[in-house]
Amino acid sequence: MDARAKRILFRTYWSNGWIDDGDRQTAPEDLAYAKDHGVMFDPVTWTHDESVSRIQRLRDTGLGSVVANGFVASLSSRRLDRRSALASWSMVERLTPHAFQPVVAGEGLDDGGTVTRSDVVCETCRDAPADGQLTARQVDRDIDLNVLSFERLKWGGVRHDDLVYARFDLEQLARTAAHDPTAEDRTLLQRVLAVIEDLDPEATAGGLVRALRPVLPGTVAEHRAFVEILGTARVLRPRGAERPEHLRSDWGAAGQWRGGDRYDVHRVRQLFPGAVQV
Ligand SMILES: [Zn+2]
Repeated sequence: MDARAKRILFRTYWSNGWIDDGDRQTAPEDLAYAKDHGVMFDPVTWTHDESVSRIQRLRDTGLGSVVANGFVASLSSRRLDRRSALASWSMVERLTPHAFQPVVAGEGLDDGGTVTRSDVVCETCRDAPADGQLTARQVDRDIDLNVLSFERLKWGGVRHDDLVYARFDLEQLARTAAHDPTAEDRTLLQRVLAVIEDLDPEATAGGLVRALRPVLPGTVAEHRAFVEILGTARVLRPRGAERPEHLRSDWGAAGQWRGGDRYDVHRVRQLFPGAVQV
């Protein structure tokens, strides 16, 4: 990936924290450079039906193994764009061809209790993932792909439960050359699994993030996103009864998981054949 293009994207959104909406700017020549290198984009309008059929086509070309290899190859390289796709893939892998099927997901009320806004999403997409819910609107206009690109490159993605992000993420991955994991990457995967095996049964997702620190290259924010990706990909899945969430917890997919749940051996074998011995 071109380092200058990436720097231009990062400087648009981040300076020791998010840059406020109104203060974000990119010089026209920088924007042109970043667009030429496939890191920044013009706004797009995407329909649900088009996104579903695009994802279908990617699945038919066997993107699944590229996704899994890219994830493992991200462990030593910190190529977070490749890491992201495992979560996106897991949200859409059971998606079948379908047209938008509207259902009201939520409503906005005014002070008198009158409905002022209805959020309509696709019911088929919502119910497609094995765990969690995928959010898909009929049409998204003027989508800012740049913020999605930034989140993808900085953390490995944030909005994995959104059809727009899943499509963007998987299409971007399909455009880059396939990347095979090295022996070091495979060792890192084994070590991550060993860390999960050895965790205190009561440990939370935050405890796993701390335990990963000496094992996995990257920042705390990257490790946190990594654990969420493992949760979204159902490598980490809570077993048994619902657990109370910490009130201040802003964890998503990994929020209910505890150390005693370990990892889903079948899922790991399915995603990464050969990673689990026995
Ligand atoms: Zn749908």
